[in-house]
Amino acid sequence: MAYLQLQGIEKEFGNVRVIRGIDLEIRQGEFIVFVGPSGCGKSTLLRLIAGLEETSAGTLMLDGRDITHQPSSKRDLAMVFQSYALYPHMSVFENMSFALKLAKVDPAIIKDKVDRAAKILNLTNYLERTPKELSGGQRQRVAIGRAIVRAPKVFLFDEPLSNLDAALRGQTRIEIAKLHRDLGATTIYVTHDQVEAMTLADRVVVLRDGQIEQVGTPLELYDRPANQFVAQFIGTPQ
Ligand code: ADP
Ligand code: MG
Repeated sequence: MAYLQLQGIEKEFGNVRVIRGIDLEIRQGEFIVFVGPSGCGKSTLLRLIAGLEETSAGTLMLDGRDITHQPSSKRDLAMVFQSYALYPHMSVFENMSFALKLAKVDPAIIKDKVDRAAKILNLTNYLERTPKELSGGQRQRVAIGRAIVRAPKVFLFDEPLSNLDAALRGQTRIEIAKLHRDLGATTIYVTHDQVEAMTLADRVVVLRDGQIEQVGTPLELYDRPANQFVAQFIGTPQ
C-alpha cells in the first residue's frame, strides 16, 4: 500500500496551470527524486505536499490519512530548503532544538534528540557555535539536523546542495545518502541535477511542464527512457 499518495494533483497560479494532474504512489522508506528542468514545477509540487501551498484539485493521502486540507504544521513532514534559513543569533544546538522547544518537549529529551542527530551529522563538536562560525556544508547539515530531530514521517528536500561548491556538494550528497540508509525515512528530494537524481534515488520522477514524463528506477530510466525528453534529460547515449 502507498504510504504517500498523490491523486490528480493540480495547481494554478492565477489562470496558469503549473501542476497538471499528478498521480504518484510512494512507499514507506523510499527515496524519491523529482527531477526536471528549471520551472517545470518541482518546488511547487513539493510545497503542495508540504502544505505550504493549497492544491487547486486532487487528493493527498499520508499513512492512511487525507492531508489535502491539513495545515502544514499538522502534516508531520519536514522540509529542508536550498537556503538554510538558520537563526543567525542562535547556536547550532538552539537552532536544532527550536521546534521541539516550541512544542514544549522535555529539555532532557530535546538534548538527547539533538545529541543523536548531531552525531549522525558530524556536528557534535559544533553545537555551541553560531551559523556564521560554520562552513556552508556544516550549515546545511544543521538545517538537516533540524528536520531529523522532529522525526517526521517524510523528509522533503528542495535542491539542498545548490548553494554549495562542487566539492562540498559531492560530500554532502554522500552524507544525505548515508542518512537515508541509517534512518530509512521516506524522502522526496528535488533537484535539476541528473547526477544527484541518478545516484540518490530509489525511483526518479521526471517532470516536464507540470506533468510526469516517466517514473522508474535510475536503471530503468537509463535503459528504457520513455521518450526523447527523458533520454536527453537523463543523458542516455542516443
Ligand atoms: P521548479 O522548482 O521546477 O524550478 P517551480 O515549481 O518553482 O519550478 O515553478 C513552476 C512554475 O510555477 C514556474 O513557471 C513559476 O514561475 C510558477 N510559479 C511558482 N510559484 C509561483 C507563485 N507563487 N505565483 C505564480 N507563479 C508561480
Ligand atoms: Mg525549484
